[in-house]
Amino acid sequence: MRVGWEILKSLELRERGPVFISCPTCGRCQIDLIGVAEEVERRLHDLPRKITVAVMGCVVNGPGEAREADVGIAGGRGQGLLFRRGEVVRKVPEAELADALVEEARKLAAEPPDRGEESA
Ligand code: SF4
Repeated sequence: MRVGWEILKSLELRERGPVFISCPTCGRCQIDLIGVAEEVERRLHDLPRKITVAVMGCVVNGPGEAREADVGIAGGRGQGLLFRRGEVVRKVPEAELADALVEEARKLAAEPPDRGEESA
């Protein structure tokens, strides 16, 4: 069921729940990207509202994608930047990145939709 929804979402045929974006990682990656991305996806899969959630591995190219998402992180050495709708919210220690991103995503999802935001 979950895989079916992910396929429909990736084809933009249905909208429901978060859309996860993570970088493919490379030599610049400065955090446990796969671990953080898996934890965030596991903890947010039940969100009913469509929001984009980005987990990026470095401060070189990560902030661009993280800014484009509704919420995102860009990893740095021992820490990361937390973004919400294009703005830096704060620096977060690496060990708290997943918690911070999940918390921000849930906060955003609990707010009333913006005008023009499509509902699922
Ligand atoms: S965001 Fe950074 S770590 Fe991830 S693939 Fe791009 S350059 Fe590499």
